[in-house]
Amino acid sequence: MAPGPTTAATSGLPPRGDLAGRRHQTGTDDERWHVASGDGNGWVYCTCGGQHWGLHGAAGLLLTDGTHVLLAHRAAWTHQGGSWAVPGGALDSDESPVQAALREMGEETSLDPSGLTPFDEWVDEHGPWRYTTVLARVDGRPDITPDHHENDGVRWWRLDEVTGLQLHGGFAAAWPSLRDRITRAAPPIGPDAPLP
Ligand SMILES: [Zn+2]
Repeated sequence: MAPGPTTAATSGLPPRGDLAGRRHQTGTDDERWHVASGDGNGWVYCTCGGQHWGLHGAAGLLLTDGTHVLLAHRAAWTHQGGSWAVPGGALDSDESPVQAALREMGEETSLDPSGLTPFDEWVDEHGPWRYTTVLARVDGRPDITPDHHENDGVRWWRLDEVTGLQLHGGFAAAWPSLRDRITRAAPPIGPDAPLP
């Protein structure tokens, strides 16, 4: 039995307590830091015939250096487990998609998202529900590890490798638009690139 979900299920607590502590240590003056209340957790039964996670919608973060993207490999027990997707999750009621996407990245990976620079976003609009993919650039491709039981791996993929992966359905549908935004708006970042 997988240790992550078992721990979460038996504790009765959302799997976020460690994050609240870490945030405390790093300070809360940056308004983009948001301590999750979890009031968005729940399913929306959508007019598209599907059901989606996030009562106020959901958001994820697509991190890129202009040539690669960071994707998370979803643990087997999750919805569409075994597929690759962006780190993400449900919005809280008082949270913007950008805030939620940055928070989720911080919760699900070892990356500190406070220094990230979002440069675009793409919305998959369903009417009663929407998923916002926030695109953010990072200098280089830092080593990032999964930090949440939802994912059993994270890694960088070249843009042309992504369509060959087993992708989460929502991400697969969004990828052509996301890739277009990356190639148009996020040139490779190097030591000579101007600061944002
Ligand atoms: Zn829908």
